[in-house]
Parts: sequence; structure tokens; C-alpha cells
Amino acid sequence: MNALPPGIDLVRAPNPGPLTGPGTNSWVFGSGEVVVIDPGPLDKGHLDRLAEVAGGRGRVAAVLCTHHHVDHQEGAEQFALMVDAPLGVFHRRADRAGVLPLEHRDEVLAGETSLTVLHTPGHSRDHLCFLAAEERVLFTGDHVLSGTTSVIWPPDGEMAEYLRSLEAIQDLPVDWLLPGHGEPIPEPAAAVRRLLAHRREREAQVLRALATGPRTPEELVRDLYRDYPQDVREAAAQTVLAHCLKLEAEGQLVRATAADGAVAFGPAVP
Ligand SMILES: [Zn+2]
Repeated sequence: MNALPPGIDLVRAPNPGPLTGPGTNSWVFGSGEVVVIDPGPLDKGHLDRLAEVAGGRGRVAAVLCTHHHVDHQEGAEQFALMVDAPLGVFHRRADRAGVLPLEHRDEVLAGETSLTVLHTPGHSRDHLCFLAAEERVLFTGDHVLSGTTSVIWPPDGEMAEYLRSLEAIQDLPVDWLLPGHGEPIPEPAAAVRRLLAHRREREAQVLRALATGPRTPEELVRDLYRDYPQDVREAAAQTVLAHCLKLEAEGQLVRATAADGAVAFGPAVP
């Protein structure tokens, strides 16, 4: 297996958990002038260490966030102040003075090299991936993870968009995906194909399970995620809800009401 290209450092935040795996990955990219991606939670020890690693490589030209979730962005503002660099986020969330609005296909320079901003909505509406074309790596945030799967939490998370955004990165000329949680992922095209297949299989399971009558996402999770630990079931129910909403929009499911008044989904009448 080929190694990561030089000029990339991983500093992992001390926030392990059922949804964050071993913790949030903060990435340092470039040398001479560097870009820091996802400073992570507001944890002084982590931000100090990140500033030290980044400072060892050069001046921080920009701090970028893949999306607004706390495990990626909570410490970002403070970190940007610490290293005296602009903070870049998706343009529709750049609502404060001094924040750098990022749009699809923007270029962010890091000394001799650069990153291309790719808008990849699905996990969240503001989700961005950052492509280092020369180094052949893609920083994926929570769009693609290793060790865990992305939670799609409606309404900010949207399943159809998520699948489209996976297809959009499937054939990029890269050797590595560098995720927001877990280890670097080799063979990107195969990894993305597996994710797409996994989601299509879940969708098929949801449709099969609802063929006999309406059920709530929580009821579906009890069957479909039987082998998963209890502490990921709530997140799983949100992802199943995201599947149901997509299938409803496509006319394959209809909304129903469960006995306790909860939202359920059932088969569309043929
Ligand atoms: Zn995350």
C-alpha cells in the first residue's frame, strides 16, 4: 500500500464516542503556508497541539471546516484567532464578519499547493470536501468515514443528496480519502462504491420491511440494526427516517400514523 503523500499531518481530538469513533480528525495540509481542516471540539489541549503541529510546518493561511457540527467546528473560531488566520465555511453559513465564505469549486491556496472546495450536501446541507488534486487526496469530513457510517439526520441531512454527493466523488483521481473520523481510506472508488451499495441495500430492506404495513423508523431499527449497540440506535433511526423520506418523495412509501401518534411509513398503494 502506498503511503500518504508528504505535507499532511493528522492530529486527533480526544473526543471518542459511538458517533465520533476514536475522535475527530484535524488535518494539517501543506508546508511553508498551511491549511488546517476541522479544528474539532473546543478543547484547549487539542487546539494547542494542533497549533504546534501546524506552526511546525509554516504559517497558517486558512482554517477550513467541512461542516458546522460541533465535533468539527466548535473550536474553529478560537483556533482561527490563535493562529491569526481566516476561518472558511460554506458561504450560506458565513454569516459573521471575518468569516471566509466558500463556494463549490473555490480554490484555497496553501503555499505552492492548493485545495479545491467541493460542496457535498447530504450529511449536512453545508458539507464540504476539500480536494488536493496534486497530492491526490480528498479530505472528506463526515461525507465518508472509516470505522463508522455517516448519520443522515433530517431535515438538515438528506438521503437523496447524500447519495448524489457520493456519486459525485466516486471517480475523482485520488489515492486516498482522509475522513473526519477513523483512519485514511485507500482505494477511494471501491470504498465509495461499497458505501453506495450499503445504502441501496438498506433502502431495499426498508421497502421489504414495510411491504406488510406501516411502521415507525424506531420499529424498523429494532429489526434492521439488531446487531448494533444500543447507543447508535437513535442515530440509526434518523438515517432510516432519511431513507423513508426519500422513498416518500419518490412515491414508493406513504406517511401513516402509528397507534401512539408517531410518524410511520407504509407501502404506497399500488
Ligand atoms: Zn463528525
